[in-house]
Amino acid sequence: MQAKTKLLIFTALILFGLGLANLINIFLNFRQSSINNAVEKSKMVASIVKDGLTAHMVNGIMPQRKYFLDQISQNKEIESLWIVRGENVIKQHGAGLIDETPQDSMDIDVLKTGKLEKKLTESIDSILLRVTIPYIATNKPDASNCLACHDVQKGDVLGAISMEFDISKIRTDGVVSIFKILTINFLFVIIILILVNYYATPYTKLFANMQDGITKAYRGDFTHIFKTTITGDAKEIVEHLNTLFSKMQENFGNIRHSLTVFTTKNEKFSDDPLTEANQIITELSDIYKFKKTIELDISKNVVFKRIVNVFKNKYNIKHFSIYMINDEKKTRENVYLDTKGSICTESSFHNALECRAYRTETDIISTDFYQLCQGCEKSKELYSCFFYNINDDYSLVISMTAKDKEELKVINEKIPHLRNYLEAAKPVIESKLLMEKLRENSLKDAMTGLYNRRFLEEFISQFMYQASRNNDTYHIMMLDIDYFKQINDTYGHDVGDKVIVAIGHLLIKSIRNSDLAIRYGGEEFLILLHNSTDEGAMLVAKNIHSAFASIEFNVGQNEVIYKTLSIGISKFPNDGETIWECIKCADKALYEAKNTGRNKIVKYIG
Ligand code: GH3
Ligand code: MG
Ligand code: MG
Repeated sequence: MQAKTKLLIFTALILFGLGLANLINIFLNFRQSSINNAVEKSKMVASIVKDGLTAHMVNGIMPQRKYFLDQISQNKEIESLWIVRGENVIKQHGAGLIDETPQDSMDIDVLKTGKLEKKLTESIDSILLRVTIPYIATNKPDASNCLACHDVQKGDVLGAISMEFDISKIRTDGVVSIFKILTINFLFVIIILILVNYYATPYTKLFANMQDGITKAYRGDFTHIFKTTITGDAKEIVEHLNTLFSKMQENFGNIRHSLTVFTTKNEKFSDDPLTEANQIITELSDIYKFKKTIELDISKNVVFKRIVNVFKNKYNIKHFSIYMINDEKKTRENVYLDTKGSICTESSFHNALECRAYRTETDIISTDFYQLCQGCEKSKELYSCFFYNINDDYSLVISMTAKDKEELKVINEKIPHLRNYLEAAKPVIESKLLMEKLRENSLKDAMTGLYNRRFLEEFISQFMYQASRNNDTYHIMMLDIDYFKQINDTYGHDVGDKVIVAIGHLLIKSIRNSDLAIRYGGEEFLILLHNSTDEGAMLVAKNIHSAFASIEFNVGQNEVIYKTLSIGISKFPNDGETIWECIKCADKALYEAKNTGRNKIVKYIG
């Protein structure tokens, strides 16, 4: 409701209340004074009757008093009139010509008490006032000396006069008066309301105008122009407000414009632009701190741990997993796995294209369509997955689950914020991945894909530490191609290289994941077989030995050659305390194989 309407209703109610109170007051006073008038009149009639009766008595014409009384009763306001004789008068003069004994209890009471009594009887069409006035004996030395004629004491009740007045007129008069007052009051209220309206309108207009301006300002719109027709203080306030708003419009517009550069259009901040600006700045500052922190982190795993913490603690995402996808191989691995486990099918880890978020590079929200992602194992799960590309080789998919649609909605609103953090982490993750790749390359031999000697030197101590803790064994095989130099000399280095590549492939094929194959030197290779039996190790050696001997090497001109291997075998920890000692033992066995004709497998005997 508008302020002006409120003011007018309020004024009208006050005036109405005052008018009503006044009306009731007037009505009650009017009624009371009408009754008082009637009582006074009755006293006057009583006095006249008394004097009249005394005159009748003095003149000895008492028997004619009825005519006198009837004449008085003719008065149009007097409905009825009768006189009552007191006990002493009845004793002295009898009950009278007409029945002058008490007519009712009121007559009896008045005779007894000597006090005036009155009673009002109201019905729908009339108001009757009954008054009974006592005559008290006096002994004044004139015609009204009652004791001269009556056997009574001074002060005794001689009798009484009862009258009934019709005062219905006061009701009609009252209604007419009320109507008049009401009309006057109504006119008065109308005039006051017109005046209030006239003087209040400029103020209420100003309030409404200010309210509009403030509402717009709350939405970040400071273009409102305040106006008023009132002069003085109000005009000054309006001018100040207009100056303030134009400044706000200019500065705030600039701030908002600058801040939108840092946010995506889907990002959900507060509807209040000032709070929104504050939230954006806080988020930017948090992201900046996050970025500075992860730049100094040692590995990508630590960076991912921090991302997980941000998701959990800052954005309160309870259940989520982060997967990293190898874009070339289309395989994916867990970066962080939800405590409830993955919602993805096992096969989607081998074929990442089963993951809809990865394949379509869009946000996948389970409520959008029934069983949206074929790579999701749990059809009833509510999930929201989004894709994030790191570089040409790797992408991320973040999969979040919710207990109900409400939580899912909240999660979805947070996705743009989560992306901001991934965006901040992206260059760091990229550089860590690059470092890892470089490092892996430096530990591998480019020609064969086998680990190189540097790898052995860096990691062997870790393997051995683990081995001694778990009582693991390693069979060590040292392999060397027989008369390799001849190939180089006869067919050139390219053919020699082909032979080296071929043995590399053969070794990778021939060992398990827990075993290691290393290019130890030019055409010397080392194999470490983890927890194998002597027979098993010998079998692997024989298989490699015979498989290599059967490889045909095309040396051009339809000429093929075959090559053989010599292998020396030792066992850790049986043949030496350290792995290096055992490698030496394998080398010795290989030396023996070479010295005793080559193309053979020799076990080290200490
Ligand atoms: P043995 O039976 O005694 O082992 O005789 P061998 O000729 O194989 O003698 P040795 O093991 O000493 O020969 C190693 C040769 O391997 C020397 C080197 O020129 C050659 N070589 C080392 N690395 C490479 C390589 O990457 N490519 C090629 N083509 N040759 C290599
Ligand atoms: Mg050699
Ligand atoms: Mg050789």
